[in-house]
Order: sequence, then C-alpha cells, then structure tokens
Amino acid sequence: AKYLSLFGLNVKNTSMAEAVDWITQTPADKTQIGFFVNVHSINLSISDPTFFKQLSNANALFADGSGMRLAAKKAGFLLNGNNNGTDMLPHLCESCVESNQSLYFFGAKPGIAEQAANALCKQYPGLNIAGTKHGYNEDNNAEQIIESINNSGCDILLVAMGSPVQEQWLLEHRDKLHCKTALAVGGLFDFYSG
Ligand code: UDP
Repeated sequence: AKYLSLFGLNVKNTSMAEAVDWITQTPADKTQIGFFVNVHSINLSISDPTFFKQLSNANALFADGSGMRLAAKKAGFLLNGNNNGTDMLPHLCESCVESNQSLYFFGAKPGIAEQAANALCKQYPGLNIAGTKHGYNEDNNAEQIIESINNSGCDILLVAMGSPVQEQWLLEHRDKLHCKTALAVGGLFDFYSG
C-alpha cells in the first residue's frame, strides 16, 4: 500500500529513496508541506485535536521511527521504511546536489542552523544552502522571516522549532512561501551542528 492509516492519519508508506524523491521531485505550483509523524507527535495529536487537524493538512506525512513500524505491524501492515529526518538528511543533501536545488534552514538556537549548514556543505561539495535563520524570534516577525526565505530563492525549506510550533507555522504561512517543498524537522539542526 502507498499509504497506511495509522492513528487516524494517512501516513506515506515510502522507502527512504521514495520519500526523498517526493521532497525533491514532486512538481508543484504551490508549496508542498511534509511532516514527520513519530510516537511523540502521535501522543501530541491525541491530546491536542488542533494539532491532529494540522497534521492531516500536510501534503505528506512520513513515518518516523521504529514506534511507527510497530504500530503498523500491530495493524497488520508492513512499513517500507523508517523515514526519520536524521537518516534522511544526508540523502536529501545528495539529491539536492544532483538536481541543483537549494535548502534553507530555519529554526534552533542562534548559530546552530548555520553550523549545521557549514558542516553539511563540507561533507557534500556543491550543496547550496541558500540561507539560515534561528528559531527564537521574540518579536514574532514572521513577515520578515518569510521575506528572507523567499528572497533566498530556496527550493526546499526545513523548519525546526519543535512540535506543534513548526507545523503550525508552516500551515499558517504556506500560501506566502515560494519554495516548492517545506518540511518540519524538529531537532535536526542540533544533531548536525557538530
Ligand atoms: N526551537 C526553536 N524555537 C523555539 C523552541 C524550540 O527554534 O521557540 C528549536 C530547538 O532549539 C530545537 C528544536 O526547535 O532545535 C526542537 O527540537 P525537538 O527535538 O525538541 O523537537 P520536537 O521533538 O519537539 O519536534
């Protein structure tokens, strides 16, 4: 099956390669939103109906972590892959280099997104990180952040502010974004910052 119904959500049943293809190769005239669904977000969606609705408004939900595989198995299905963001990022970087697409990193503490970008650019020659921005913007200047993201000309936006803030931010602003794909990625930049 291409999709599995897990906890009331339509989760993509993709291998890692298929998930990356969806992110980099889906033709889109509107920004496509992808979220990662793991045990933590499922728990949150059960206690927070607004978050559940937000998850179901994504264009793609990726099954993240072995908890999702277990849940699928219990429901009688086999998940084709563990599409977690940490394992995915190297493949995404390779695909971006190959297809000449750029990334933008938005979120985490000041300096972290930049450190992650620098580390990845060293590891993947030719990788284009169009911009970075930290995720602690107390004056809530979303318009300014969106302008900076759009002006960068990035193809793919990664937003890391934790759930449910990052998902809410993406859904609220999706119509103003010009990138082709945007993903909510949790603590990903912390992991790759060094
Ligand atoms: N974060 C942020 N702004 C905030 C709160 C958190 O940019 O106002 C960042 C934080 O620095 C970390 C990420 O969001 O990099 C949250 O990571 P976590 O793994 O906790 O995400 P979750 O599991 O909650 O999705």
